[in-house]
Amino acid sequence: MRGLMMDAPLLISSLIRFAAQNHATTEIVSRSVEGPIHRYTYADAYGRICRLARALGRLGVTEGDRVATLAWNGYRHFELYFGVSGIGAVCHTINPRLFHDQIEYVVNHAEDKYVFLDLTFVPLLEKLAPVLKPVKGYVIMTDAGHMPETTLPGALCYETLLEAEVDTFEWPEFDENTASSLCYTSGTTGHPKGALYSHRSTLLHTFSICSADSLGLNCEDAMLPAVPMFHVNAWGIPYCCAMVGAKLVLPGPNYEGEAIYELLDGEQVTKTAGVPTIWLMLLDYMKKNGKKLPHLDSTVIGGSAVPRSMIEAFQDDFGVQVFHAWGMTEMSPVGTTGRLKGHMRNLPKEKRQDIQLKQGRGIYGVEMKIVDDDGAELPRDGKAFGELMVRGPWVASEYYKDDEGTKASFTGDGWFGTGDVSTLDEDGFMQIVDRSKDVIKSGGEWISSIDLENTAVGHPDIAEAAVIGVPHPKWDERPILVVVPVEGKEPAPDDIVAFLKDKVANWWLPDDVVFVDEIPHTATGKISKMQLRERLKDYKLPDQ
Ligand code: ADP
Repeated sequence: MRGLMMDAPLLISSLIRFAAQNHATTEIVSRSVEGPIHRYTYADAYGRICRLARALGRLGVTEGDRVATLAWNGYRHFELYFGVSGIGAVCHTINPRLFHDQIEYVVNHAEDKYVFLDLTFVPLLEKLAPVLKPVKGYVIMTDAGHMPETTLPGALCYETLLEAEVDTFEWPEFDENTASSLCYTSGTTGHPKGALYSHRSTLLHTFSICSADSLGLNCEDAMLPAVPMFHVNAWGIPYCCAMVGAKLVLPGPNYEGEAIYELLDGEQVTKTAGVPTIWLMLLDYMKKNGKKLPHLDSTVIGGSAVPRSMIEAFQDDFGVQVFHAWGMTEMSPVGTTGRLKGHMRNLPKEKRQDIQLKQGRGIYGVEMKIVDDDGAELPRDGKAFGELMVRGPWVASEYYKDDEGTKASFTGDGWFGTGDVSTLDEDGFMQIVDRSKDVIKSGGEWISSIDLENTAVGHPDIAEAAVIGVPHPKWDERPILVVVPVEGKEPAPDDIVAFLKDKVANWWLPDDVVFVDEIPHTATGKISKMQLRERLKDYKLPDQ
């Protein structure tokens, strides 16, 4: 027997229509690429999104067409999220930190019809335009007064396009499984791979991460996503803010500590989210300048593991609650968030922090299990570790036009293999031990490079640390610690190893400490172990 409820499709256009009707005067504040702070309301945004939808139609964009963006976190980018998906086209956010040949690859692979770009990226696209064959036109996200001289073929001005339209629009209704947006993973090996989200997957993800156990976002909040809108839709936060009517604060191109602080403070931001690297810059700025953030109540940190020293700094020095989260581009991206349970409230601080260091609990909608090399499920005891498998309505079922046939990650029985090696405990908390390809095997046992790195950055003279395994004739592999010292400091290797001694197992201690000026990163800001291993390929252990 079928239920007798309305079959209303879950569409992205409904989010912004809702925000305009119910939170008309709530603000969206952006640091613009042109310089000044721009502010307007959900009602203003809605009118302009209607104009954009009409302009897209006039440019010949129709359902299923891919429209790319190359842009920072700003109000025009926000408009594209809703305008492009709202008419049934696909918003393809390009990560400008990809290598140039990867940008060329993703535009051609996605067959983007138009590219909307911030002024910052005009020179980059002028260089690439001759090889971006499917692109019919380029729209520069600025006003007529700031339009640059450009060789981009048929360059159009965003504001001029919008001015020509009226600010009402009849949003089309279509199947909620229609594709809405497209994000490519940075792809450490092979080409980037496309995760193609649908309206349904996006809305279910939005409901879930707004909930109290996840971001806990509501209409009293001001939210600053310090994660770029070109990386997994800023973890879905723009959609969340529209769903609950939270004030949205967009930091534009500047992620320096001072610039982020100014917005957090000036706009009385209550919640924020971002990767550890951004927060290192902010904490450093606040400590050096004696600043506080009385309005900020929590930050969600993910993308890379959060070090203990960062949890302590936020919570103890600045009174900001930290929630550790984990996810992947293939998962829209959120899979876990780390709110502690009621029975953990009275645990000693150290024990609570131990739990916060884990990557969080699975949120409803994402099922997780860990498996051994033969695919057999391992116990949820916080000790056994194996590859983490996930499934759920906002997890990719395959990659977009997967011409490399990357089937390995998708099991025949409907699970996605994350490539992360982790434990799961009785309370549902997941802890990542390593990426499967970065794991260090020494004497038949595993050493967690992530754990070692995070312990090492607790040393006051270490700015950044990475651990890689190097071949060893007896032990197979031994870990070495690669360190970027804090500016002006020269910590001694023995002192660093002594610092680690009472914090990790004895046989985990690195065989050597190598000092470098810089550790290579991927386009999404993660340490690139592949490049690091390449740079250190001639390295020999001291006892060899
Ligand atoms: P990329 O485009 O670099 O793949 P993703 O955001 O999709 O970017 O990266 C997903 C990977 O990032 C995860 O599989 C995991 O290895 C790592 N990751 C994400 N969050 C965390 C976290 N909180 N702690 C440790 N690693 C994390």
